Amino acid sequence: EKRNGHEPEFLQAVREVAETVIPYIIQHDIYNGKNILLRMVEPERLISFRVSWVDDSGEIQVNRGYRIQMNSAIGPYKGGLRFHPTVNASILKFLAFEQVFKNSLTTLPMGGGKGGSDFDPKGKSDNEIMRFCHAFMTELFRHIGPNTDVPAGDIGVGAREIGFMFGMYKKLNNEFTGVLTGKGQSWGGSLIRPEATGYGTVYFAQNMLKRKNESFSGKKVVISGSGNVAQFAAEKSIELGAKVLTLSDSSGYIYVENGFSTEQLQYVMHIKNVKRGRISDFIDKYPSAKFVANQRPWSVSCDIALPCATQNELNGDEAKQLIKNGCMCVSEGANMPSTPEAIHEFQHAKILFAPGKASNAGGVATSGLEMSQNSLRLSWSRKEVDERLKEIMENIHNSCVQYGQNEDGSIDYVRGANIAGFVKVADAMLAQGII
Ligand code: NDP
Repeated sequence: EKRNGHEPEFLQAVREVAETVIPYIIQHDIYNGKNILLRMVEPERLISFRVSWVDDSGEIQVNRGYRIQMNSAIGPYKGGLRFHPTVNASILKFLAFEQVFKNSLTTLPMGGGKGGSDFDPKGKSDNEIMRFCHAFMTELFRHIGPNTDVPAGDIGVGAREIGFMFGMYKKLNNEFTGVLTGKGQSWGGSLIRPEATGYGTVYFAQNMLKRKNESFSGKKVVISGSGNVAQFAAEKSIELGAKVLTLSDSSGYIYVENGFSTEQLQYVMHIKNVKRGRISDFIDKYPSAKFVANQRPWSVSCDIALPCATQNELNGDEAKQLIKNGCMCVSEGANMPSTPEAIHEFQHAKILFAPGKASNAGGVATSGLEMSQNSLRLSWSRKEVDERLKEIMENIHNSCVQYGQNEDGSIDYVRGANIAGFVKVADAMLAQGII
Protein backbone atom coordinates (compact mmCIF):
# COMPACT_ATOMS: atom_id res chain seq x y z
CA GLU A 1 0.00 0.00 0.00
CA LYS A 2 2.90 2.34 0.76
CA ARG A 3 4.32 1.92 -2.73
CA ASN A 4 1.00 2.03 -4.64
CA GLY A 5 -1.18 4.18 -2.36
CA HIS A 6 -2.07 6.56 -5.18
CA GLU A 7 -3.44 3.75 -7.37
CA PRO A 8 -6.95 2.94 -6.03
CA GLU A 9 -8.08 0.48 -8.75
CA PHE A 10 -4.82 -1.46 -8.52
CA LEU A 11 -5.07 -1.67 -4.73
CA GLN A 12 -8.71 -2.82 -5.02
CA ALA A 13 -7.74 -5.68 -7.35
CA VAL A 14 -4.75 -6.71 -5.22
CA ARG A 15 -6.75 -6.60 -1.98
CA GLU A 16 -9.42 -8.90 -3.43
CA VAL A 17 -6.78 -11.45 -4.42
CA ALA A 18 -4.78 -11.10 -1.20
CA GLU A 19 -7.82 -11.71 1.03
CA THR A 20 -8.31 -15.17 -0.46
CA VAL A 21 -4.76 -16.14 -1.42
CA ILE A 22 -2.88 -15.18 1.78
CA PRO A 23 -4.78 -17.72 3.94
CA TYR A 24 -3.96 -20.36 1.31
CA ILE A 25 -0.26 -19.39 1.31
CA ILE A 26 -0.14 -19.64 5.09
CA GLN A 27 -1.59 -23.17 4.94
CA HIS A 28 0.89 -24.37 2.30
CA ASP A 29 4.56 -24.56 3.25
CA ILE A 30 5.91 -24.42 -0.30
CA TYR A 31 4.59 -20.86 -0.74
CA ASN A 32 5.11 -19.65 2.81
CA GLY A 33 7.91 -17.16 3.49
CA LYS A 34 8.80 -16.68 -0.19
CA ASN A 35 7.21 -13.24 -0.59
CA ILE A 36 5.57 -14.63 -3.67
CA LEU A 37 2.58 -12.24 -3.67
CA LEU A 38 4.90 -9.30 -3.06
CA ARG A 39 6.79 -10.30 -6.20
CA MET A 40 3.55 -10.75 -8.17
CA VAL A 41 2.25 -7.23 -7.45
CA GLU A 42 5.35 -5.56 -8.89
CA PRO A 43 5.21 -5.40 -12.72
CA GLU A 44 8.20 -6.98 -14.42
CA ARG A 45 8.27 -3.90 -16.63
CA LEU A 46 6.15 -0.74 -16.93
CA ILE A 47 6.57 1.20 -20.14
CA SER A 48 5.14 4.67 -20.66
CA PHE A 49 5.68 6.66 -23.83
CA ARG A 50 4.69 9.75 -25.81
CA VAL A 51 2.31 9.35 -28.75
CA SER A 52 2.29 12.42 -31.03
CA TRP A 53 -0.08 12.54 -33.98
CA VAL A 54 -1.75 15.08 -36.25
CA ASP A 55 -5.53 15.55 -36.17
CA ASP A 56 -7.75 16.39 -39.18
CA SER A 57 -7.38 20.12 -38.60
CA GLY A 58 -3.57 19.81 -38.81
CA GLU A 59 -2.99 20.32 -35.09
CA ILE A 60 -0.44 18.17 -33.25
CA GLN A 61 -1.98 16.10 -30.45
CA VAL A 62 -0.07 14.37 -27.67
CA ASN A 63 -1.29 11.32 -25.73
CA ARG A 64 0.33 8.97 -23.27
CA GLY A 65 0.82 5.33 -24.25
CA TYR A 66 1.50 2.43 -21.87
CA ARG A 67 2.38 -1.23 -21.78
CA ILE A 68 2.50 -3.04 -18.45
CA GLN A 69 4.39 -6.34 -18.69
CA MET A 70 3.19 -7.83 -15.43
CA ASN A 71 4.25 -11.46 -15.27
CA SER A 72 5.86 -13.84 -17.79
CA ALA A 73 6.33 -16.90 -15.56
CA ILE A 74 4.06 -19.17 -17.62
CA GLY A 75 4.27 -17.63 -21.10
CA PRO A 76 4.66 -14.44 -23.17
CA TYR A 77 2.84 -11.40 -21.79
CA LYS A 78 -0.72 -11.34 -23.10
CA GLY A 79 -3.53 -8.85 -22.56
CA GLY A 80 -5.50 -6.11 -24.26
CA LEU A 81 -4.93 -2.49 -25.18
CA ARG A 82 -7.48 0.05 -23.93
CA PHE A 83 -8.07 3.46 -25.55
CA HIS A 84 -10.19 5.57 -23.20
CA PRO A 85 -9.68 9.02 -21.63
CA THR A 86 -9.72 7.48 -18.12
CA VAL A 87 -6.68 5.26 -18.83
CA ASN A 88 -3.86 5.70 -16.32
CA ALA A 89 -1.20 3.53 -14.65
CA SER A 90 -3.53 2.45 -11.82
CA ILE A 91 -6.25 1.17 -14.15
CA LEU A 92 -3.79 -0.63 -16.39
CA LYS A 93 -1.97 -2.19 -13.43
CA PHE A 94 -5.24 -3.51 -12.02
CA LEU A 95 -6.10 -4.96 -15.43
CA ALA A 96 -2.61 -6.44 -15.90
CA PHE A 97 -2.68 -7.99 -12.42
CA GLU A 98 -6.11 -9.57 -13.05
CA GLN A 99 -4.86 -10.75 -16.42
CA VAL A 100 -2.07 -12.82 -14.85
CA PHE A 101 -4.60 -14.90 -12.88
CA LYS A 102 -7.09 -15.05 -15.73
CA ASN A 103 -4.54 -16.28 -18.25
CA SER A 104 -3.34 -18.89 -15.80
CA LEU A 105 -6.94 -20.13 -15.42
CA THR A 106 -7.35 -20.65 -19.18
CA THR A 107 -4.90 -23.60 -19.01
CA LEU A 108 -2.98 -22.01 -21.94
CA PRO A 109 0.67 -20.86 -21.66
CA MET A 110 0.19 -17.08 -21.42
CA GLY A 111 1.69 -14.55 -19.02
CA GLY A 112 -0.14 -11.33 -18.17
CA GLY A 113 0.06 -7.77 -19.48
CA LYS A 114 -2.11 -4.80 -20.39
CA GLY A 115 -1.65 -1.48 -22.14
CA GLY A 116 -3.33 1.37 -23.92
CA SER A 117 -3.62 5.11 -23.97
CA ASP A 118 -5.66 8.03 -22.65
CA PHE A 119 -6.62 8.70 -26.30
CA ASP A 120 -10.41 9.12 -26.73
CA PRO A 121 -11.61 7.45 -29.95
CA LYS A 122 -15.12 8.98 -29.63
CA GLY A 123 -15.87 11.44 -32.40
CA LYS A 124 -12.58 10.83 -34.23
CA SER A 125 -12.54 10.21 -38.00
CA ASP A 126 -11.23 6.93 -39.43
CA ASN A 127 -8.13 8.79 -40.59
CA GLU A 128 -7.47 10.19 -37.14
CA ILE A 129 -7.86 6.71 -35.65
CA MET A 130 -5.40 5.36 -38.21
CA ARG A 131 -2.83 8.09 -37.56
CA PHE A 132 -3.10 7.57 -33.81
CA CYS A 133 -2.80 3.75 -34.06
CA HIS A 134 0.20 4.06 -36.36
CA ALA A 135 1.90 6.57 -34.05
CA PHE A 136 1.17 4.35 -31.02
CA MET A 137 2.78 1.35 -32.72
CA THR A 138 5.91 3.24 -33.79
CA GLU A 139 6.94 3.04 -30.12
CA LEU A 140 5.16 -0.11 -28.90
CA PHE A 141 6.67 -2.32 -31.64
CA ARG A 142 10.10 -2.44 -29.96
CA HIS A 143 8.64 -3.92 -26.77
CA ILE A 144 6.41 -6.68 -28.21
CA GLY A 145 6.71 -9.78 -30.41
CA PRO A 146 5.03 -13.14 -30.98
CA ASN A 147 7.22 -14.82 -28.32
CA THR A 148 7.54 -11.78 -26.04
CA ASP A 149 4.27 -9.92 -25.67
CA VAL A 150 1.09 -10.30 -27.73
CA PRO A 151 -1.46 -7.48 -27.21
CA ALA A 152 -5.17 -7.66 -28.14
CA GLY A 153 -8.22 -5.36 -28.00
CA ASP A 154 -10.15 -3.97 -25.03
CA ILE A 155 -12.36 -0.90 -24.52
CA GLY A 156 -11.99 1.36 -27.56
CA VAL A 157 -9.82 -1.13 -29.44
CA GLY A 158 -11.64 -3.43 -31.88
CA ALA A 159 -10.94 -4.94 -35.30
CA ARG A 160 -10.36 -1.53 -36.95
CA GLU A 161 -7.68 -0.44 -34.47
CA ILE A 162 -5.99 -3.87 -34.41
CA GLY A 163 -5.78 -3.66 -38.22
CA PHE A 164 -4.05 -0.27 -38.21
CA MET A 165 -1.62 -1.34 -35.47
CA PHE A 166 -0.82 -4.64 -37.16
CA GLY A 167 -0.11 -2.84 -40.44
CA MET A 168 2.44 -0.56 -38.80
CA TYR A 169 4.07 -3.40 -36.84
CA LYS A 170 4.47 -5.42 -40.04
CA LYS A 171 5.99 -2.46 -41.84
CA LEU A 172 8.48 -1.70 -39.08
CA ASN A 173 9.55 -5.34 -38.57
CA ASN A 174 9.24 -6.54 -42.16
CA GLU A 175 7.68 -9.65 -40.69
CA PHE A 176 4.19 -11.20 -40.83
CA THR A 177 3.70 -12.78 -37.41
CA GLY A 178 0.92 -13.28 -34.88
CA VAL A 179 2.03 -10.32 -32.77
CA LEU A 180 -1.52 -9.11 -32.09
CA THR A 181 -4.74 -11.08 -31.65
CA GLY A 182 -8.22 -10.06 -32.73
CA LYS A 183 -6.97 -9.79 -36.31
CA GLY A 184 -9.29 -9.91 -39.34
CA GLN A 185 -10.33 -13.25 -40.80
CA SER A 186 -8.27 -12.98 -43.98
CA TRP A 187 -5.02 -11.98 -42.27
CA GLY A 188 -4.52 -14.36 -39.37
CA GLY A 189 -7.58 -13.85 -37.18
CA SER A 190 -9.48 -16.68 -35.53
CA LEU A 191 -13.13 -17.45 -36.05
CA ILE A 192 -15.15 -16.86 -32.85
CA ARG A 193 -12.58 -14.38 -31.42
CA PRO A 194 -14.99 -11.41 -31.69
CA GLU A 195 -17.72 -13.45 -29.98
CA ALA A 196 -15.50 -15.21 -27.43
CA THR A 197 -15.65 -12.97 -24.35
CA GLY A 198 -19.43 -12.53 -24.47
CA TYR A 199 -20.12 -16.16 -25.34
CA GLY A 200 -17.66 -17.32 -22.67
CA THR A 201 -19.37 -15.19 -20.00
CA VAL A 202 -22.65 -16.91 -20.84
CA TYR A 203 -21.03 -20.38 -20.98
CA PHE A 204 -19.57 -19.79 -17.53
CA ALA A 205 -22.99 -18.75 -16.18
CA GLN A 206 -24.51 -21.85 -17.81
CA ASN A 207 -22.04 -24.02 -15.89
CA MET A 208 -22.90 -22.31 -12.62
CA LEU A 209 -26.64 -22.65 -13.28
CA LYS A 210 -26.27 -26.31 -14.25
CA ARG A 211 -25.06 -27.15 -10.73
CA LYS A 212 -28.43 -25.77 -9.56
CA ASN A 213 -30.40 -27.60 -12.25
CA GLU A 214 -31.14 -24.26 -13.90
CA SER A 215 -30.57 -22.90 -17.43
CA PHE A 216 -30.90 -19.70 -19.51
CA SER A 217 -34.15 -20.81 -21.08
CA GLY A 218 -36.96 -18.34 -20.30
CA LYS A 219 -34.77 -16.26 -17.94
CA LYS A 220 -34.78 -12.45 -17.83
CA VAL A 221 -31.26 -11.12 -18.44
CA VAL A 222 -30.03 -7.59 -17.75
CA ILE A 223 -26.82 -6.58 -19.57
CA SER A 224 -24.80 -3.38 -19.25
CA GLY A 225 -22.64 -2.05 -22.09
CA SER A 226 -23.23 -2.38 -25.81
CA GLY A 227 -19.69 -2.96 -27.02
CA ASN A 228 -17.91 -6.11 -28.06
CA VAL A 229 -18.53 -8.12 -24.88
CA ALA A 230 -22.14 -7.00 -24.30
CA GLN A 231 -23.22 -7.61 -27.91
CA PHE A 232 -22.16 -11.25 -27.95
CA ALA A 233 -23.28 -11.95 -24.38
CA ALA A 234 -26.69 -10.78 -25.60
CA GLU A 235 -26.50 -12.86 -28.78
CA LYS A 236 -25.73 -16.08 -26.89
CA SER A 237 -28.35 -15.39 -24.20
CA ILE A 238 -31.03 -14.92 -26.87
CA GLU A 239 -29.87 -18.08 -28.66
CA LEU A 240 -30.29 -20.01 -25.40
CA GLY A 241 -33.88 -18.82 -25.07
CA ALA A 242 -33.43 -16.01 -22.56
CA LYS A 243 -34.98 -12.54 -22.74
CA VAL A 244 -32.35 -9.77 -22.84
CA LEU A 245 -34.10 -6.75 -21.35
CA THR A 246 -31.37 -4.10 -21.42
CA LEU A 247 -28.19 -2.87 -23.12
CA SER A 248 -26.45 0.39 -22.24
CA ASP A 249 -23.59 2.80 -22.82
CA SER A 250 -22.15 5.67 -20.81
CA SER A 251 -25.20 7.83 -21.64
CA GLY A 252 -27.89 5.48 -20.26
CA TYR A 253 -29.74 2.24 -20.97
CA ILE A 254 -32.34 0.87 -23.37
CA TYR A 255 -35.14 -1.29 -21.96
CA VAL A 256 -37.11 -3.63 -24.22
CA GLU A 257 -40.03 -5.12 -22.35
CA ASN A 258 -40.24 -8.43 -24.23
CA GLY A 259 -36.51 -8.75 -24.72
CA PHE A 260 -34.36 -7.72 -27.70
CA SER A 261 -35.15 -9.71 -30.85
CA THR A 262 -32.27 -10.92 -33.02
CA GLU A 263 -33.15 -8.20 -35.51
CA GLN A 264 -33.08 -5.53 -32.79
CA LEU A 265 -29.69 -6.76 -31.57
CA GLN A 266 -28.39 -6.56 -35.15
CA TYR A 267 -29.51 -2.94 -35.16
CA VAL A 268 -27.58 -2.24 -31.92
CA MET A 269 -24.51 -3.77 -33.59
CA HIS A 270 -25.06 -1.52 -36.60
CA ILE A 271 -25.36 1.58 -34.37
CA LYS A 272 -22.22 0.71 -32.39
CA ASN A 273 -19.93 -0.96 -34.94
CA VAL A 274 -20.84 0.78 -38.20
CA LYS A 275 -22.39 4.16 -37.34
CA ARG A 276 -20.35 4.43 -34.12
CA GLY A 277 -23.36 6.14 -32.56
CA ARG A 278 -25.07 6.16 -29.14
CA ILE A 279 -27.35 3.50 -27.67
CA SER A 280 -30.15 6.10 -27.51
CA ASP A 281 -30.24 6.05 -31.36
CA PHE A 282 -32.07 2.72 -30.93
CA ILE A 283 -35.40 4.42 -30.17
CA ASP A 284 -35.33 6.28 -33.51
CA LYS A 285 -36.08 2.94 -35.16
CA TYR A 286 -37.88 1.22 -32.26
CA PRO A 287 -39.89 3.94 -30.48
CA SER A 288 -41.70 1.44 -28.24
CA ALA A 289 -38.41 0.73 -26.40
CA LYS A 290 -37.55 2.92 -23.42
CA PHE A 291 -34.34 4.95 -23.10
CA VAL A 292 -33.39 5.81 -19.52
CA ALA A 293 -30.76 8.56 -19.63
CA ASN A 294 -27.73 8.67 -17.31
CA GLN A 295 -28.66 5.53 -15.40
CA ARG A 296 -27.35 2.02 -15.14
CA PRO A 297 -29.73 -0.88 -15.72
CA TRP A 298 -29.46 -2.62 -12.31
CA SER A 299 -32.90 -1.55 -11.04
CA VAL A 300 -34.58 -3.64 -13.78
CA SER A 301 -35.97 -6.89 -12.36
CA CYS A 302 -34.09 -9.93 -13.71
CA ASP A 303 -32.93 -13.51 -13.06
CA ILE A 304 -29.42 -13.08 -14.45
CA ALA A 305 -27.19 -9.97 -14.57
CA LEU A 306 -24.22 -9.68 -16.93
CA PRO A 307 -22.19 -6.50 -16.30
CA CYS A 308 -20.24 -6.03 -19.55
CA ALA A 309 -19.21 -2.33 -19.66
CA THR A 310 -16.40 -1.27 -17.30
CA GLN A 311 -14.87 -1.39 -13.81
CA ASN A 312 -16.87 -0.39 -10.71
CA GLU A 313 -20.16 -0.05 -12.61
CA LEU A 314 -22.24 -1.99 -10.05
CA ASN A 315 -22.16 -0.81 -6.42
CA GLY A 316 -23.42 -2.22 -3.12
CA ASP A 317 -26.84 -0.55 -3.29
CA GLU A 318 -27.37 -1.71 -6.85
CA ALA A 319 -26.38 -5.25 -5.81
CA LYS A 320 -28.99 -5.12 -3.00
CA GLN A 321 -31.59 -4.00 -5.54
CA LEU A 322 -30.72 -6.87 -7.91
CA ILE A 323 -31.00 -9.41 -5.07
CA LYS A 324 -34.29 -7.89 -3.87
CA ASN A 325 -35.67 -8.22 -7.41
CA GLY A 326 -34.87 -11.93 -7.46
CA CYS A 327 -31.59 -12.05 -9.38
CA MET A 328 -30.01 -15.50 -8.89
CA CYS A 329 -26.83 -15.26 -10.96
CA VAL A 330 -24.22 -12.59 -11.80
CA SER A 331 -21.52 -13.40 -14.33
CA GLU A 332 -19.01 -10.59 -14.97
CA GLY A 333 -18.20 -9.94 -18.65
CA ALA A 334 -16.26 -6.77 -17.83
CA ASN A 335 -13.16 -6.59 -15.62
CA MET A 336 -13.95 -5.79 -11.96
CA PRO A 337 -17.42 -4.29 -12.73
CA SER A 338 -18.70 -5.08 -9.21
CA THR A 339 -17.34 -3.00 -6.33
CA PRO A 340 -16.10 -4.88 -3.22
CA GLU A 341 -19.37 -3.89 -1.48
CA ALA A 342 -21.42 -5.40 -4.33
CA ILE A 343 -19.44 -8.66 -4.19
CA HIS A 344 -20.03 -8.77 -0.45
CA GLU A 345 -23.79 -8.43 -1.00
CA PHE A 346 -23.88 -11.21 -3.62
CA GLN A 347 -21.87 -13.56 -1.44
CA HIS A 348 -23.86 -12.72 1.67
CA ALA A 349 -27.13 -13.49 -0.18
CA LYS A 350 -25.51 -16.71 -1.50
CA ILE A 351 -26.48 -16.05 -5.10
CA LEU A 352 -24.23 -17.34 -7.90
CA PHE A 353 -21.43 -14.84 -8.53
CA ALA A 354 -18.58 -15.25 -11.03
CA PRO A 355 -15.66 -12.78 -10.99
CA GLY A 356 -14.49 -11.49 -14.37
CA LYS A 357 -11.10 -13.16 -14.17
CA ALA A 358 -12.93 -16.50 -14.45
CA SER A 359 -16.09 -15.68 -16.40
CA ASN A 360 -14.62 -13.35 -19.04
CA ALA A 361 -11.50 -15.46 -19.68
CA GLY A 362 -13.02 -16.83 -22.90
CA GLY A 363 -11.72 -13.81 -24.83
CA VAL A 364 -8.08 -14.25 -23.97
CA ALA A 365 -8.42 -18.03 -24.21
CA THR A 366 -9.57 -17.67 -27.81
CA SER A 367 -6.72 -15.21 -28.39
CA GLY A 368 -4.48 -18.05 -27.19
CA LEU A 369 -6.15 -20.27 -29.78
CA GLU A 370 -5.48 -17.57 -32.40
CA MET A 371 -1.79 -17.65 -31.44
CA SER A 372 -1.74 -21.44 -31.80
CA GLN A 373 -3.36 -21.23 -35.25
CA ASN A 374 -0.86 -18.54 -36.31
CA SER A 375 2.07 -20.71 -35.19
CA LEU A 376 0.64 -23.72 -37.02
CA ARG A 377 -0.32 -21.56 -40.04
CA LEU A 378 -3.76 -23.15 -39.92
CA SER A 379 -7.34 -21.93 -39.45
CA TRP A 380 -9.72 -23.99 -37.38
CA SER A 381 -13.44 -24.03 -38.19
CA ARG A 382 -16.00 -22.02 -36.26
CA LYS A 383 -17.34 -25.19 -34.68
CA GLU A 384 -13.89 -26.35 -33.61
CA VAL A 385 -12.99 -23.05 -31.93
CA ASP A 386 -16.40 -22.80 -30.25
CA GLU A 387 -16.07 -26.36 -28.90
CA ARG A 388 -12.62 -25.54 -27.48
CA LEU A 389 -13.99 -22.33 -25.94
CA LYS A 390 -16.84 -24.24 -24.28
CA GLU A 391 -14.41 -26.83 -22.95
CA ILE A 392 -12.06 -24.16 -21.57
CA MET A 393 -14.93 -22.36 -19.81
CA GLU A 394 -16.04 -25.64 -18.27
CA ASN A 395 -12.48 -26.35 -17.10
CA ILE A 396 -12.21 -22.88 -15.56
CA HIS A 397 -15.52 -23.45 -13.82
CA ASN A 398 -14.31 -26.80 -12.49
CA SER A 399 -11.06 -25.26 -11.21
CA CYS A 400 -13.11 -22.66 -9.33
CA VAL A 401 -15.23 -25.43 -7.84
CA GLN A 402 -12.10 -27.38 -6.84
CA TYR A 403 -10.51 -24.46 -4.97
CA GLY A 404 -13.64 -22.58 -3.91
CA GLN A 405 -15.83 -25.18 -2.23
CA ASN A 406 -17.38 -23.99 1.05
CA GLU A 407 -18.21 -26.30 3.94
CA ASP A 408 -21.93 -26.12 3.11
CA GLY A 409 -21.25 -27.29 -0.46
CA SER A 410 -21.75 -23.85 -2.05
CA ILE A 411 -18.98 -22.40 -4.20
CA ASP A 412 -17.01 -19.22 -3.55
CA TYR A 413 -16.03 -18.53 -7.16
CA VAL A 414 -13.91 -15.53 -6.13
CA ARG A 415 -11.71 -17.61 -3.84
CA GLY A 416 -11.69 -20.51 -6.30
CA ALA A 417 -10.55 -18.35 -9.24
CA ASN A 418 -7.91 -16.52 -7.23
CA ILE A 419 -6.32 -19.64 -5.76
CA ALA A 420 -6.50 -21.71 -8.96
CA GLY A 421 -4.93 -18.83 -10.92
CA PHE A 422 -2.30 -18.25 -8.24
CA VAL A 423 -1.07 -21.83 -7.87
CA LYS A 424 0.09 -22.28 -11.47
CA VAL A 425 1.92 -18.94 -11.64
CA ALA A 426 3.45 -19.32 -8.16
CA ASP A 427 4.73 -22.83 -8.97
CA ALA A 428 6.39 -21.54 -12.15
CA MET A 429 7.95 -18.59 -10.31
CA LEU A 430 9.32 -20.88 -7.60
CA ALA A 431 10.76 -23.24 -10.22
CA GLN A 432 12.48 -20.34 -12.02
CA GLY A 433 14.10 -18.94 -8.87
CA ILE A 434 14.44 -15.38 -7.65
CA ILE A 435 14.53 -13.27 -10.82
P1 NDP B 1 -16.04 -1.78 -26.03
O1 NDP B 1 -15.24 -0.55 -26.19
O2 NDP B 1 -16.41 -2.58 -27.21
O3 NDP B 1 -17.40 -1.44 -25.25
C1 NDP B 1 -17.37 -0.83 -23.99
C2 NDP B 1 -18.79 -0.58 -23.54
O4 NDP B 1 -18.79 -0.15 -22.18
C3 NDP B 1 -19.48 0.53 -24.31
O5 NDP B 1 -20.85 0.30 -24.35
C4 NDP B 1 -19.15 1.76 -23.47
O6 NDP B 1 -20.04 2.83 -23.63
C5 NDP B 1 -19.25 1.20 -22.07
N1 NDP B 1 -18.38 1.96 -21.17
C6 NDP B 1 -17.03 2.11 -21.27
N2 NDP B 1 -16.57 2.91 -20.29
C7 NDP B 1 -17.66 3.27 -19.58
C8 NDP B 1 -17.84 4.07 -18.44
N3 NDP B 1 -16.79 4.68 -17.83
N4 NDP B 1 -19.09 4.19 -17.96
C9 NDP B 1 -20.15 3.57 -18.56
N5 NDP B 1 -20.03 2.80 -19.65
C10 NDP B 1 -18.81 2.65 -20.14
O7 NDP B 1 -15.24 -2.68 -24.96
P2 NDP B 1 -15.37 -4.24 -24.64
O8 NDP B 1 -16.77 -4.68 -24.83
O9 NDP B 1 -14.27 -4.92 -25.35
O10 NDP B 1 -15.00 -4.26 -23.09
C11 NDP B 1 -15.98 -4.16 -22.05
C12 NDP B 1 -15.41 -4.72 -20.75
O11 NDP B 1 -15.04 -6.10 -20.94
C13 NDP B 1 -14.14 -4.04 -20.24
O12 NDP B 1 -14.14 -4.09 -18.81
C14 NDP B 1 -13.02 -4.94 -20.75
O13 NDP B 1 -11.84 -4.84 -19.99
C15 NDP B 1 -13.69 -6.30 -20.56
N6 NDP B 1 -13.11 -7.38 -21.36
C16 NDP B 1 -13.06 -7.32 -22.73
C17 NDP B 1 -12.53 -8.38 -23.45
C18 NDP B 1 -12.57 -8.39 -24.94
O14 NDP B 1 -12.26 -9.46 -25.51
N7 NDP B 1 -12.93 -7.34 -25.62
C19 NDP B 1 -11.94 -9.55 -22.78
C20 NDP B 1 -12.14 -9.56 -21.34
C21 NDP B 1 -12.67 -8.50 -20.68
P3 NDP B 1 -19.55 4.17 -24.38
O15 NDP B 1 -19.50 3.81 -25.84
O16 NDP B 1 -20.57 5.19 -24.04
O17 NDP B 1 -18.19 4.51 -23.82
